[in-house]
Amino acid sequence: MTTGIEVRHIGKDYAGKPAVAEVSFTVADRELFVIVGESGCGKSTLLRLIAGLETPDRGEILLHGARVAGQGTMVPPEQRGTGFVFQSYALWPHMTVRDNVAFPLEAGGMSHKQAARSVEAHLETVSMKELAARKPEALSGGQRQRVALARCLAGGARTILMDEPLANLDPHLRGTMERELLHFHRSSGATTLYITHDQREAMALADRMAVMKGGRFLQVGTPQEIYERPGSVEVAEFIGHGSVVEVYYRDGMADLSGCRFAATAVSGQPEGAARALVRPEGIEILDAGAEGQLAGTVRSVLYRGGIWEAGLDLDAGASLTVAHDAPMRVGDRLAIRIKRAWVLPG
Ligand code: ADP
Ligand code: MG
Repeated sequence: MTTGIEVRHIGKDYAGKPAVAEVSFTVADRELFVIVGESGCGKSTLLRLIAGLETPDRGEILLHGARVAGQGTMVPPEQRGTGFVFQSYALWPHMTVRDNVAFPLEAGGMSHKQAARSVEAHLETVSMKELAARKPEALSGGQRQRVALARCLAGGARTILMDEPLANLDPHLRGTMERELLHFHRSSGATTLYITHDQREAMALADRMAVMKGGRFLQVGTPQEIYERPGSVEVAEFIGHGSVVEVYYRDGMADLSGCRFAATAVSGQPEGAARALVRPEGIEILDAGAEGQLAGTVRSVLYRGGIWEAGLDLDAGASLTVAHDAPMRVGDRLAIRIKRAWVLPG
């Protein structure tokens, strides 16, 4: 597989403080790679370094095999073959949808007629053909975002960089746009780097993803790997709604206050004290009156549409997040059985 983006030991400081401390990763050609992390962790700075809007203090960047930044090299943004989609739409307000998409083509020297044909194809890709004559002000947020995507395609971008493009949209539109983005990504054939603070969105979109914190990557993997086998407490607590508890690990079993349950670990995990991630779907809530392995009292309840999610204080001391398809109330007594857990390495 050829490489779309290659970032080697990249770093960028502002006023002596690293915004991006030290990041290395590669994105395969045509891959959709998502970086997720809390606000301020350095995501936008990293994207701007790749786009050429910032100069790195350390490291180097290659796009489709060509070195674009690093010691002695700084290829300007317009020569990097990248398209950039921001949270705000950055369309030209005085131009129609059609002219917005045609602009990079005609600016690149294409004839008006040829550009018009190409624009039709790109508007087709994002399902915006019917609205080609409208101005941006007469479009919804989602429609504007689709025009911005079509313009990226028209510009011939082989690499598309997206900085929280769905953050301004209302939640129900976001779901629709996620599906459209996946469709767009596949039909564009571009290498896509997508950043977001929303872990749910990251998992829904990514071929592979990175969890970022404090200017560094904590872990890189498929969404399933990161969700099921987080490499650290930080990742385990950032992704999903699981609980990290102190256990004693031995031979594929974990012991929590005398209660033993199956636990998966990296190979070679030694016997001894460890921390385990227990997710709500790994916990069975037993019928009232049943003899459970563990018992506790419900401390808090959130209704999540068809599912009740509760914070459970175990009599043994630890706290777990549990989910149930029947109502739970603060103060309820619950008996539970832990079906599976993941032992955090290290
Ligand atoms: P994110 O996109 O993950 O929210 P940013 O990359 O925007 O994070 O910012 C990372 C850190 O760098 C933050 O502490 C931010 O305040 C700082 N920073 C970003 N851009 C600049 C800038 N142009 N000048 C000074 N500090 C900046
Ligand atoms: Mg940002």
